[in-house]
Amino acid sequence: MTKSDHEAAFETLAIHAGQAPDESHGAVMEPIVLASTFAQPEPAKPKLYEYSRSGNPTRAALEACLAALEKASSGFAFASGSAAATTLLHCLSPGDEVLCGDDVYGGTYRLLTRVAPGLGIKTTFADTSDTQQFLAALTPKTRLVWLESPTNPLLKLADIARIAERVREAGARVVVDNTFASPALQTPLELGADVVLHSTTKYINGHSDVVGGALLTSDAELAEKLKFLQNALGAVPSPFDCYLVLRGIKTLAVRMQRHVETAGALSERLSAHPGVLRVHYPGLAQHPQHALARKQMRGGGGIISVELTGGTERARQFLTRLRIFTLAESLGGVESLAEHPASMTHASIPAAQRQAIGIGDGLVRLSVGLEHERDLWKDLEQALA
Ligand SMILES: *Cc1c(COP(=O)(O)O)cnc(C)c1O
Repeated sequence: MTKSDHEAAFETLAIHAGQAPDESHGAVMEPIVLASTFAQPEPAKPKLYEYSRSGNPTRAALEACLAALEKASSGFAFASGSAAATTLLHCLSPGDEVLCGDDVYGGTYRLLTRVAPGLGIKTTFADTSDTQQFLAALTPKTRLVWLESPTNPLLKLADIARIAERVREAGARVVVDNTFASPALQTPLELGADVVLHSTTKYINGHSDVVGGALLTSDAELAEKLKFLQNALGAVPSPFDCYLVLRGIKTLAVRMQRHVETAGALSERLSAHPGVLRVHYPGLAQHPQHALARKQMRGGGGIISVELTGGTERARQFLTRLRIFTLAESLGGVESLAEHPASMTHASIPAAQRQAIGIGDGLVRLSVGLEHERDLWKDLEQALA
């Protein structure tokens, strides 16, 4: 498909964007081009590609496909979501400031608090679910606003359109980490964001067998910088990984639809269970930002966080009793996973701060996979008993 075909529906773009049967053999699947270098007809006059760090056909197909799904004009693929974040951070200059949500991915928090200061970049953290208060933390030096919506693990939302409008007036840019929603459920650039970040490791690849990342933008100046930095910093993915992610994307629309249906049903059942104090899920009517979820998302997603009655010991019992849900970090794959944020993904946050932002010892996070809802509910029920 060519760029002019971008009006096609999401399901169609997921399968065809950036890809066409190859010209020499007609192969219908994108070939994995492993070559590190490409023959040039004349000195310094390469055809399309010269060296695979600066550009590679398999990677280019993935980048074009991801850009189409996020309604962006440019896409850049990276070796991980963290590599994408690192590259984006290098678009800033010493003295610049970042305003970031206070409930972001632990690795993003670590990058902004322990790596960015070395580049002369200061970060302020604020709660994105209170738009007014969040925007009040903007300073004249804020150059980048870093949003995650829904957040991890509390599934709080940021009003992307309202924040983006105000940030644009202030002359800064907004990045939205869209990993939890995926472009099937939310397209931040259409809401006014400047750049979208993905850990393709999660829903986009969807099969828990690749670590990868991406940045998507329609901002020509930013795209130019990212292209330079992608090559200069060199945190690029292998052609084989690009192929696997492209393959995963083909089923993204149908996977997300089922993740949403099953997570929606399980969140209702969990809410009614006496062993559960509270369920965090944007698709539930009782979620404090449910109206915003309906406005900017096309479904509540596949992640549910559950506060169990009782603390760490109860959470430990529950997690070790699960049989279909696997106790593991990560999310977004076909298989259901469960984890304990306080002792696993969010253990690096000091206990007092964890409590203050609402990550209690009884909180467990579920990544609802594609197994049958009945089997998943039976599993949760027996582990709660
Ligand atoms: C996993 C994740 C990342 C980091 O991605 P990696 O591919 O693990 O480097 C960033 N943001 C979110 C929301 C994530 O879940």
